[in-house]
Amino acid sequence: MKDLLKGKTAIVTGGTRGIGYAIVRKYLEAGASVALCGSKEATAQKALDNIRQEFPEAKVTAIWPDLTNPQSVAEAFSEVKAKFGRIDILANNAGISQSTPLSEYTEQEIDNILNLNIKAVMVCSQAAAKLMKEDGGGVIVNTSSVVSLYGQASGCGYPASKYAVNGLTKSLARELAKDRIRVNAVAPGIIRTDMVAALPEQMIKPLISTIPIGRMGEPEDIANAFVFLSSDLASYITGAVLSVDGGVII
Ligand code: NAD
Repeated sequence: MKDLLKGKTAIVTGGTRGIGYAIVRKYLEAGASVALCGSKEATAQKALDNIRQEFPEAKVTAIWPDLTNPQSVAEAFSEVKAKFGRIDILANNAGISQSTPLSEYTEQEIDNILNLNIKAVMVCSQAAAKLMKEDGGGVIVNTSSVVSLYGQASGCGYPASKYAVNGLTKSLARELAKDRIRVNAVAPGIIRTDMVAALPEQMIKPLISTIPIGRMGEPEDIANAFVFLSSDLASYITGAVLSVDGGVII
């Protein structure tokens, strides 16, 4: 793992906690310089402080653009490029989930999930691809979900948004290959983060009993797949949605 991403610069959205924080840590362990994105300055700075304590020598910074605003994202990503010299990797990981029944959905909830889980992936990919192209290529890895393959019984906005992430992954893989940019997604199963802690107990318990590997996933299980797909070991892989889910079929 060490040196697999040596000399590369990565941007990780949703890098302040959970899966994104684990991706930041694994990218640093693999030798990359990293910009972690948070939704607010305070949480981004706090995550940065924690990372700096653990990795005192690391080249790491924090940004907090509005991920749905093309200008805000373009400015923040350009700042990262100015600081570290280039952008090689974008991990489009920020996301929210929902479990609202269709009849109870508010318009605000619909906008929230579509804006962060789909629009932000397009906006960030657009800004990063422009910068990657200038330097001869790069890699985009999106966080999808196991529910993008099977749907879920309540909160239809979430699996719908992750189906869209898969569509973006496959389409951008085709569109950006000529620019030497690979685009893949990781589809996590049930992973031990705040997002899962927020789900109702009666939704989680039966799910865990269906996981063939017999345990909930850890954020590091997902981060390892991000490192692999971001590295040259995956140089012939693009347009893939890699399930990392302990074999679960929901
Ligand atoms: P989490 O809630 O712990 O972390 C979510 C991250 O997204 C945080 O860093 C948060 O700051 C960021 N974020 C939330 N709203 C934002 C906003 N408006 N603007 C910018 N950033 C924002 O969740 P997690 O489990 O680590 O989820 C990370 C990704 O993994 C998400 O895309 C999620 O859909 C996906 N996922 C998680 C699981 C799981 O079981 N935990 C399973 C499948 C997919």
